[in-house]
Amino acid sequence: MSDPLPAADTVTDAVNDAATAAATAVATVELELPVAVVGSLSPSRAADFKTCPLLYRFRSIDRLPEKPTRDATRGTVVHAVLEHLYDLPAAERTIAAAQSSVTPSWEQLLTAEPRLAELFAEDSEGAELTAWLSSARQLVANYFELEDPTRLEPESREQFVEVVLDGLRLRGYVDRLDVSPDGDIRVVDYKTGSIPREAFEAKALFQMKFYALVLWRTRRVVPRQLRLIYLADKDTLSYQPDAEELARFENTVQAIWKAIAKASLTGDFRPSPSRLCDWCSHQALCPAKGGTPPPFPADALSNATSERSARGSVVVPEV
Ligand code: SF4
Repeated sequence: MSDPLPAADTVTDAVNDAATAAATAVATVELELPVAVVGSLSPSRAADFKTCPLLYRFRSIDRLPEKPTRDATRGTVVHAVLEHLYDLPAAERTIAAAQSSVTPSWEQLLTAEPRLAELFAEDSEGAELTAWLSSARQLVANYFELEDPTRLEPESREQFVEVVLDGLRLRGYVDRLDVSPDGDIRVVDYKTGSIPREAFEAKALFQMKFYALVLWRTRRVVPRQLRLIYLADKDTLSYQPDAEELARFENTVQAIWKAIAKASLTGDFRPSPSRLCDWCSHQALCPAKGGTPPPFPADALSNATSERSARGSVVVPEV
């Protein structure tokens, strides 16, 4: 025999409960809807646009391949060595241990990106590769004059950070994050190039402020220190940001994106020649150097919007 029908007020209560639950569920779903992303920027690509809009176009929209360089590749090897140095127990983080991982890191990179072999294609005797590996080991040794890795326990290394602010996705990889017991954050970046002269410090700090902004917006804590470690010069550059400055910086980044979006609609990415042209792989296509750019891609904005991560590629030198 079936159960008797429930009383009308019981049904009404059940409907109300279901409606309330549904409304709650809808509200929850609405809260979880992703923010519409209209653009994506890493510090490298934002800096490209600031340096030369046409360079940004070649890299982020046309996505033209760039020849690997020995300097950029050595930088990747040294970054890998310093990243994995902190896999070791503190007492084992010695210069010898770090230097011994230079050659394996290079071989691993070569396996992942076989075309890097072209860097030493002419080096039949292997002397240039030997000298290059030795210079990487020297950079690693220099690191120990700037920090004592046995006294540090980073929170993370090669940390991917990302936030969407007003539809703009900001993303990047932080070389190292240190967090003190009090929760103070230090953002650390290793550089294998020379320390910038004073006039170029702001440019060097652009990347660090970018990371500081992402961390501030995701963790609600302004990083206490931004620290650039210049291995070749055995020197450091430190900076202490504040919330007001990062808020202004956020406006700057949004303005850069708006300029990129506008240029993507019109195709108007102008060359901005500077001494950095010497390192540009695209001089043959640049009107400032007598070249002609390829036809502007129809899907320019979507290419710019779906910007690929710069990490993982060693063939993009930072000019
Ligand atoms: S050569 Fe100079 S001006 Fe031309 S795209 Fe490259 S960086 Fe820009």
